Amino acid sequence: MKIDTAKNEISTTIGSFPYDFLVIAIGCRTNFFGNKIISSNSFSLKSTYDAISIRNHILLTFEKIISANKDEKESLSNLVIVGGGPTGVELAGAFAEIKKNVLPKDFRGIDFSEFRIILIEGSKDTLNNMSQKAKIHSRKYLKNMGVDILTETIVKNYDGYILTLSNGQTIRSNTVIWQRV
Ligand SMILES: Cc1cc2nc3c(=O)[nH]c(=O)nc-3n(C[C@H](O)[C@H](O)[C@H](O)COP(=O)(O)OP(=O)(O)OC[C@H]3O[C@@H](n4cnc5c(N)ncnc54)[C@H](O)[C@@H]3O)c2cc1C
Repeated sequence: MKIDTAKNEISTTIGSFPYDFLVIAIGCRTNFFGNKIISSNSFSLKSTYDAISIRNHILLTFEKIISANKDEKESLSNLVIVGGGPTGVELAGAFAEIKKNVLPKDFRGIDFSEFRIILIEGSKDTLNNMSQKAKIHSRKYLKNMGVDILTETIVKNYDGYILTLSNGQTIRSNTVIWQRV
């Protein structure tokens, strides 16, 4: 895509077009704040392809849990979502519902009380840019659904095995979904 502002013309793969006003609305990418290690080890959720990748990964994770030793089980059982904005909150809630209603029917030998859904948010609240009511209710609902929420916590690194937090705490996890724009 090339824009000639002197001629008011945009060139695309299917030809050039004149314009009076040009609106550019090409969306945004997931923001990893330049951390290539995190971006290469975690999932993002922007497209159907991303959603299918996460779904396949989760199903494979539960197949692995069946034959995993204690150490491996801990990492496989910790699902971390980074970013407590609208999509992070929605995703945490969806996983909590799947944990309760869907997965136990498909994987009968697994103790789902050990499966943790952890939502990490850098600011003070989930849905931090929304109303006070939304902040309070989103946290309350997710807590009631069994989601562990860490606020005022920044993820510093994730190497595919260990997630390192700003407070020095570490979490072993096989699944990190990065929901920050
Ligand atoms: C998991 C998830 C759930 C969401 N749920 C909701 C919801 O329930 N409600 C809600 O309101 N919002 C929701 N959103 C947010 C919403 O999807 C975005 O705010 C919205 O899509 C942004 O619209 P956009 O047009 O700016 O960008 P996009 O929807 O990203 O559209 C940009 C388009 O530009 C095209 N493009 C990119 N580069 C070029 C180029 N060089 N030339 C030509 N075309 C190009 C892309 O292919 C794309 O089709 C959700 C987002 C996510 C990730």
